[in-house]
Amino acid sequence: MKVSVVVPLYNEEENIQDLYAKLKQALDTSVPDYELVFVDDGSTDGTMGLIEQLQKQDSRLIALSFRRNFGQTAAFAAGFDYAQGDVVITMDGDLQNDPQDIPKLLGLIGEYDIVSGWRRRRQDPFISRRLPSMMANWLISRVTGVPLHDYGCSLKAYRRDVIKNISLYGEMHRFIPAVAKWYGVKITEIETTHHPRLRGKSKYGISRTIRVVLDLITVKFLLGFSTKPLQFFGPVGLLSSMTGFLISCYLTLDKFLYGRDIGGRPLLLLGVLLIIVGVQFIGMGLLGEMMVRIYHESQKKPIYVLRQVLGHTPVRREDLSTGRAGDKQ
Ligand code: UDP
Ligand code: MG
Repeated sequence: MKVSVVVPLYNEEENIQDLYAKLKQALDTSVPDYELVFVDDGSTDGTMGLIEQLQKQDSRLIALSFRRNFGQTAAFAAGFDYAQGDVVITMDGDLQNDPQDIPKLLGLIGEYDIVSGWRRRRQDPFISRRLPSMMANWLISRVTGVPLHDYGCSLKAYRRDVIKNISLYGEMHRFIPAVAKWYGVKITEIETTHHPRLRGKSKYGISRTIRVVLDLITVKFLLGFSTKPLQFFGPVGLLSSMTGFLISCYLTLDKFLYGRDIGGRPLLLLGVLLIIVGVQFIGMGLLGEMMVRIYHESQKKPIYVLRQVLGHTPVRREDLSTGRAGDKQ
């Protein structure tokens, strides 16, 4: 079993040597066949120079270098693209994760498809990091239905086929387990060691929490409704239009039965607004339905994920592309 360790590095020149040494120490004894994939995320310090030096001495090290800083998620995505391993491990490059935990993760990967680290005794400031992270983890677990204590922990192990199926956007690497759950993979978590950052600076501040919540909305919507957007927008639209319609009926009766003036009443505005908003929502849902079809049919993407096929009869790709399998996920 080949193992790839993917590490994103952005201005981590003080940590590279130590990181490399600790990774070697942890892997040389316990993992016979491994490779290191270091991704330099457009560092402006000496990070890439140091990686280059290491690469010259070690053919097990693959070095990727971004033209500019594309972010941690992009760095993971690039690492996944180039990783050859049957199992892919991700971890931070600032030595806050401990390479000694890698064998523990690997021990569970046969039974599970994803093993996620849990920084139970996390060594970061409480107010600015741990508290927002606790709230975010609680929220993500509730919303996605994948109960992990620590979504933000980079130290995770994935079976190759799991990550090769997932495309990453924005800052979504922390949501891989949630997306993978949709594919039906088995996930577990184990406690891992966490160290304080000794050298270099953290690249994130408190504003990340807000971005995580926005990403959560995207993930929830895509997982729940990406093949049936009208089911999401439709009910809201119908409810809004119906309410607007009833309000307008009431006002019409008031005018014609009782002869009351309705021109200056706020209720009239509300009724009209609700009707228009409702129509917009339904229109948006219908546009969404068209986009889903274009997305799946133009790229011949099926709307299901197979585990295996027994008694295989060759399937024509054009049959797969019609998406006639209903709206089941
Ligand atoms: N990182 C990166 N690109 C970025 C920001 C961070 O590759 O734009 C890397 C960084 O070098 C480190 C890891 O992602 O290896 C985690 O970053 P950091 O330690 O700053 O995050 P924190 O531990 O404070 O959440
Ligand atoms: Mg860190």
